[in-house]
Amino acid sequence: MKPVQSTLKKWLKTNKNFQEHYSKLKQDVLNDSNIETFLMNHPELTSSDIERNLMKLYEYRSQCRNCQNCHSLHSCRNMIKGYSPVLEVVDRDIHLSYKKCQYLIEYEREREKTKLIQSLYMPKDILEASIEDIDNDSERGQAVLELHRFIRQVKDGIPEKGIYFHGPFGVGKTYFLGALANTLKNFNISSTLIYMPELVREMRASLKDDSVNKKIDIFKKADVLMLDDIGAELQSAWFRDEILGSILQFRMMEKRPVFFTSNYSLDQLETMLATTRSGVETVKAGRIIERIKQVSREVPVYGKNRRE
Ligand code: ADP
Ligand code: MG
Repeated sequence: MKPVQSTLKKWLKTNKNFQEHYSKLKQDVLNDSNIETFLMNHPELTSSDIERNLMKLYEYRSQCRNCQNCHSLHSCRNMIKGYSPVLEVVDRDIHLSYKKCQYLIEYEREREKTKLIQSLYMPKDILEASIEDIDNDSERGQAVLELHRFIRQVKDGIPEKGIYFHGPFGVGKTYFLGALANTLKNFNISSTLIYMPELVREMRASLKDDSVNKKIDIFKKADVLMLDDIGAELQSAWFRDEILGSILQFRMMEKRPVFFTSNYSLDQLETMLATTRSGVETVKAGRIIERIKQVSREVPVYGKNRRE
């Protein structure tokens, strides 16, 4: 940690009252409670050892002081952001090194956790949603209860079934998914959250570069898959059968849960799924609904429109 030491040496050289300042500095360093403790734990250090290493002790003291008055990584004033000084004695020599402080460790842990949420086209407020912020009003009561039940069960392993939330626009269905994903990351469980209309677009675009299967694989294998706003975009028989059908089939066989949000109940969705640009195909629609029922439990969500 050269800067502090070299600045100090320069200062010492140029200062007229060198001795006076030097002894004051030495007193300050030796009176520091952290350094007192350190020296008490190392009685083998002689005064000449201490003298020789005074600059390191001085640097240690100045960086420690920054840490004592610090409350977040953001406000860190140390030379290397997020690092606190550590003193050690090796062969009667004092070594000064730096280790990650608690704020940096926490920050890195949080950053690792956010990697557990993969999302495609989800708004920021949803990705920051928190389960504590969901008020348990009576209209959404059942939905909230089911959400908490899933979280309770997660402690014993990921349940087979997710939830198919359906209800009017703006009641907080998508918010539930964000809040759940954020809770699951604390259990080290990864969620993949996708806005359905964009998934259709993405898959169509992937046809050009042959990456469809690679992308489908991500959705098949996510610990928890969350499909937001399923319904209106399903006019393509190809998407319904080859993409959605294949993802759901895989997850059903592997017993991996899927969460959905929709403005449509499963009955309504069945009618929509049957009607594609290729005509009316009730059997194929029925097959998809059957798979949705295998990977999730249908739960209605009522309440006021929170966007108004
Ligand atoms: P839906 O998916 O049912 O159409 P959203 O989940 O998008 O509704 O919610 C609508 C708006 O209300 C969003 O801006 C969302 O952030 C907000 N919201 C929903 N539930 C909550 C909640 N419990 N606390 C705070 N904001 C919420
Ligand atoms: Mg929504």
